[in-house]
Amino acid sequence: MKILFCEYCGDLFNLKYELKSCNCGKTKGKYCTNLLNAVITDGIVISFSEATFLPAIRGRPNSGLGKHFIASILPKYADTVEVISLEDIEKDNTDE
Ligand SMILES: [Zn+2]
Repeated sequence: MKILFCEYCGDLFNLKYELKSCNCGKTKGKYCTNLLNAVITDGIVISFSEATFLPAIRGRPNSGLGKHFIASILPKYADTVEVISLEDIEKDNTDE
């Protein structure tokens, strides 16, 4: 699961196949043909390890420190994420 963080307004949101945007509009993104590849305009991509995230959800304790899971900040240039302009992502979204 990929989460996008906007450095301008602080919004965090999950990617979907439909284009989503942060509150300020500078960071937008969506998945491409699968849940691995995405296009974004800006922001920092956070990848949740589903192998640890889903068990942490299921094992949510009633109290205490909570349950840990693994997440990674993807590098600026990741093979699975293409950074494109706001104009191009809007055009790409209307083409579909
Ligand atoms: Zn923003």
